[in-house]
Amino acid sequence: MIRFFNTLSGKIEEFQPIKEGEVRLYTCGPTVYDYAHLGNYRAYVFEDLLKRFLLFYGYKVIHVMNITDVDDKTIRGANEQGLSLNDYTKKYIEAFFEDVRVLRLLPADYYPRATEHIPDMVRMIKGLLEKGYAYVKDGSVYFSLAKFPNYGRLSKINLEDLKAGVRIEADEYEKESVHDFALWKKAKEGEPYWETEIGPGRPGWHIECSAMSTRYLGPTFDIHCGGIDNIFPHHENEIAQSEAFYGQKFVNYWLHCHHLIVDGQKMSKSKGNFYTLRDLLARKYDPIDIRYFLLSTHYRKMLNFTFEGLEQARASRQRILDFVYELEHRSLPAGDDPEAEKLSENSLSRFKNELAEDLNISSALAALFDFIREINSRLAQDSLKQTGAKKAREVVYEMDKVLALLPEKKEENLPPEIMEKIELRQKARKEKNFALADRLREELAQQGIVLEDTKEGVRWKKIK
Ligand SMILES: [Zn+2]
Repeated sequence: MIRFFNTLSGKIEEFQPIKEGEVRLYTCGPTVYDYAHLGNYRAYVFEDLLKRFLLFYGYKVIHVMNITDVDDKTIRGANEQGLSLNDYTKKYIEAFFEDVRVLRLLPADYYPRATEHIPDMVRMIKGLLEKGYAYVKDGSVYFSLAKFPNYGRLSKINLEDLKAGVRIEADEYEKESVHDFALWKKAKEGEPYWETEIGPGRPGWHIECSAMSTRYLGPTFDIHCGGIDNIFPHHENEIAQSEAFYGQKFVNYWLHCHHLIVDGQKMSKSKGNFYTLRDLLARKYDPIDIRYFLLSTHYRKMLNFTFEGLEQARASRQRILDFVYELEHRSLPAGDDPEAEKLSENSLSRFKNELAEDLNISSALAALFDFIREINSRLAQDSLKQTGAKKAREVVYEMDKVLALLPEKKEENLPPEIMEKIELRQKARKEKNFALADRLREELAQQGIVLEDTKEGVRWKKIK
């Protein structure tokens, strides 16, 4: 059983998808007016952990992530540089997909772009006008909050502040200020616009997500994610628009990740503590260490970014890499090792159970590191046998389907006759038959295998 904290109910709930075995997931994507920053990637990495875990658990996942390529910020940016909206956003869209690749975020099934879904938005806005949830004022269309009594359920915002008929046009507004919000903004001098049935203009940000999520996932779907700063007004407005239009529940589970701060402070360009992924890569940090750092704090806790924290993440990940290297390159005695196999299986189920409890990553990683410690002590005592090592390695790769921290190219195992030869050589050395040991070593070298005798035992390496 999987349980998640649902922002809507404010409680941990058992997860039950609408359709058995299948999860429909929507995650708010980037607004492509600039390079995404570390706070954005914290949310995307959390969503990737969620998705990988659902897949690992055996679900089929249909994932949609939108690209907001028209809103106040993209229009402002394009105008400042004298570019068309498309030419301006193209660079940031490409950069985003490059970051998705280097951080090993599983690609979504659909990446709908707002500018390519204007008819879907117009259809919804028209419907909202017909049903009386929206009204036209000076050529723009607004959602009337007074008509939607359920407003505020997600963010628990106080609706007493609502002054009927007070409108706001901006895509983002101050917390606590509850206004009718723009669904459609009348065409303005110097702004891109579309000629449509509801007049010339462009969509507000919130309607983009309502239209694109339901277009691909249906009027009601399972999980909607974002950062906590999306809860109000963005997600609250998405619920109002979608439920008013379709007359049914929009989303069953809302999962939100907490903020990322830097050195204990809010990240901001003026404080000089603002980092994009590119900034860190330029300082020669490995993107997978950054992934580990972003992943390893529970998503509902504030994450404090520091360079020391990133160094610790690097060291922790290196322990996992070293462990797998040992399992793959240490020459071990042949034979069955039921104890180590059992330990491996237990560790895997502990890892899985921890994640099933609202993605408890800290406890899941503790399960992995306890496992590493126990297998390492068997290695140190020379009690780990080949089947035990094989199982242990399989389990780490199994866990890595969720974590995605290991090198993608796996080294294949050595053929049994080579393993046997390495063992024979060790036996010869133990018996002080150095002539035989040296001859076997030379033979192996001719077959492309170099041996290294270390304090901990013998390691092998392939040469090209
Ligand atoms: Zn959104």
